[in-house]
Amino acid sequence: MSKRYRVGILGATGTVGQRFVQLLEGHPQFEITAMAASDRSAGKLYSEACAWKLPGAMSESVRDLIVRPIEPPLDCDIVFSSLPSSAAREAEEAFARAGYPVISNSSSYRMDEDIPLLMPEINADHLGLIDIQREKRGFGKGFIVTNPNCAVASFAPPLAALHRRFGVEAAIVTTLQAISGAGYPGVASLDITDNVFPYIAGEEPKVETEAQKLIGTFTGIGVQKADFTISAQCFRVNVIDGHTASVRVKLRDVGTLEEVVASMREFPSLGLHSSPANFIEVTDEPTRPQPRLDRDAGSGMTITVGRVFPDNVFDYRFIALSHNTVRGAAGSAILNAELLIDRGII
Ligand code: NAP
Repeated sequence: MSKRYRVGILGATGTVGQRFVQLLEGHPQFEITAMAASDRSAGKLYSEACAWKLPGAMSESVRDLIVRPIEPPLDCDIVFSSLPSSAAREAEEAFARAGYPVISNSSSYRMDEDIPLLMPEINADHLGLIDIQREKRGFGKGFIVTNPNCAVASFAPPLAALHRRFGVEAAIVTTLQAISGAGYPGVASLDITDNVFPYIAGEEPKVETEAQKLIGTFTGIGVQKADFTISAQCFRVNVIDGHTASVRVKLRDVGTLEEVVASMREFPSLGLHSSPANFIEVTDEPTRPQPRLDRDAGSGMTITVGRVFPDNVFDYRFIALSHNTVRGAAGSAILNAELLIDRGII
């Protein structure tokens, strides 16, 4: 039986925090031993502080944990962070400095040049940044790794597949993002019901910059970003879970439609506990992907791509979809922790 690690969750009462609790139930490597959230929750039992919003009951094993403030020490070996970026920067650094591996969903450190922005299937070698980070920041045995923005997680995998095989020169990305991406209570019902909301604060710059780092090359001293440009528009739509991205892409070497589809279908998954059988599923069904039907593919860890066609203005177009609180948040962070254990870093 594999070693079990004690994990703590920062932002444990929120939308992503609850998804962590759900996904970690019964996990063979992890056991939740600590919860932390804001002053509103600290000191209460988790079951009192958390308004549980996922289907099914809150796990019995976490109900009686006392919610702590977001500062070390916490009774755990690994810290998962799902704090708002305003609180994350200071708290995550404090935990890393206190010797904890910090595996973050927050945007605070994603673009710092010594912090890995990870999707294990795409760039596990970026873990090489951890030694550089420890030396630069004087972290000792602690460190920070991040996963990408939830909308980036939907289109970066097919883009990475295309970049490896053909070279991506430019992409136009239009995202249709679920309500749960805004956390709880999120967008006012009167803004999102019967509506498409054309603004998500701070989102377009993230969508335009994170994929270049994620798909970039680790050189031994840093990450050389992939040299394509992205133009993004981000919309909030009346969907509970599942972010959709409509993508038009210009390639350096243009392949056939069959080659383009094969590059995505053949992109390997990993053999980690939370790895889906297929990292990228390409459907030929003309009406897919749809959030309601496809967000749970691979238990929420598969990216579903459809409507792959030649484009009249760019070279190809396609639609990509992923589950924003699983592959776009908690599930990705858990996969990152599994990778860190597999590579002997934790
Ligand atoms: P959320 O539902 O608003 O939850 C926020 C959590 O952080 C709650 O546990 C809250 O505790 C805690 N918190 C808020 N302000 C705090 C403070 N000043 N000090 C300490 N704790 C504080 O938000 P969320 O959707 O889970 O998002 C959390 C993070 O994940 C954000 O950085 C977000 O950008 C990122 N993310 C979210 C998604 C998604 O799909 N939702 C996807 C990827 C990444 P209380 O309950 O005590 O207030």
